[in-house]
Amino acid sequence: MIKAITGTKDILPSDISKWKFVESIIDKTMQGFNYKEVRTPVFEETALFSRGIGEATDIVSKEMYTFLDKGGTSLTLRPEMTASVVRAFIEHSLAAKQNLNKLYYIAPMFRQERPQAGRLRQFHQFGAEAIGSTSPALDSEIIIMAYDILKSFGLKNILVKINSLGVPESRENYKAKLREYLQGKVAGLSEDSRKRFETNILRIFDSKEECDQKIMQDAPLLIDYLDEESLKHFESVKALLKQAGVPFEIDPKLVRGLDYYTKTTFEIVSGSVGSQSALCGGGRYDLLVEQLGGKPTPGVGFAAGIERILLACENENSLNIPVESIDLYIVRLDNGLQPNVFDLGLHFRRKGITSEFDYLERSVKAQMREANKLNARYVIILGGEEYQKGELVLKNMLDGTQENVSLDNMEYIANKFAG
Ligand code: AMP
Repeated sequence: MIKAITGTKDILPSDISKWKFVESIIDKTMQGFNYKEVRTPVFEETALFSRGIGEATDIVSKEMYTFLDKGGTSLTLRPEMTASVVRAFIEHSLAAKQNLNKLYYIAPMFRQERPQAGRLRQFHQFGAEAIGSTSPALDSEIIIMAYDILKSFGLKNILVKINSLGVPESRENYKAKLREYLQGKVAGLSEDSRKRFETNILRIFDSKEECDQKIMQDAPLLIDYLDEESLKHFESVKALLKQAGVPFEIDPKLVRGLDYYTKTTFEIVSGSVGSQSALCGGGRYDLLVEQLGGKPTPGVGFAAGIERILLACENENSLNIPVESIDLYIVRLDNGLQPNVFDLGLHFRRKGITSEFDYLERSVKAQMREANKLNARYVIILGGEEYQKGELVLKNMLDGTQENVSLDNMEYIANKFAG
């Protein structure tokens, strides 16, 4: 028996209404902020991610699904979307058409991680990228949008954490200070963090290891070394968040896993999902477009994990998903009418009225049971005396009333579903 790969999940019909509901909220919110949907290929040249995300990040160094195609090109299943969106932005000269491009996506991502609750190998993210402006209003807009979407899912136990990483110069100054602080303490760090000390020193703040956290407790903080421009930018972002009624906390240790961030970084964490608590993360990336070969263009964005959000919603019992139903179920009183039922069903289906009938020669009672199971709003009963008279019986399943309708007057039934 062949099974789905560990860390991947089938989304079965019974889950689809939940997914569609979540996706409809994402679409509606993003479109309300005038973000346009973008879809890019699932795989890209490996260099896009190694250059865009950074060789020293966990994603690139450990987690990518990379393979050689038959032509010997190294390809990678996308582990995140920002690099792909920026590639598409550059490749299609989107900047020439619009000074500011506001883009969003809902798409599967792939990372070779150790699967656990809230951590999969194929998972779905939605996210947004605003490319073309340094305005702090966009940093705030991105955070507000992510927050509003999570709120629309009914989530209560969430916290917005923000930080600023400054511009590269102030960050380099700070890194030197941090290196100085850690110099005599390296031996006490975990193996991973000893590596990070050499390759990606800021990431030591991300470590969950107790020995690392203890040492980092008294480490100098980037926020105390910020340049004036970044500080001013950060103040504006905070002011706009306050104005929008988005509660937040400043977390000076929030550095995020990816290399490309400048100035604002943020995360929204949930208190309802255990150790994998980040539902969403993002920030400003003013150097990424250039790094990937485009003209220098600032940008800011976020990505959120749908499976993890659904887990939080489940634990908070917060999603109010509409009950699934169909418009019409057609019951036949004798099997000889099967072609007529098929014809009638087709008539309504072609009008966009969700209709179903029996294919299994089931009894009238079983057909009625099926209509109830499917939550049919109306049931048509075809056959018997009424049929001899050129009529059918239409039953309203909500209030139990029924009426006879002439077989020539299907318009009357269709109108029940109009608007
Ligand atoms: P990142 O791109 O790592 O900042 O991730 C953004 C969001 O995607 C996280 O906050 C999670 O909600 C989600 N996410 C990241 N990695 C995984 C994974 N392996 N499985 C499920 N969700 C993930």
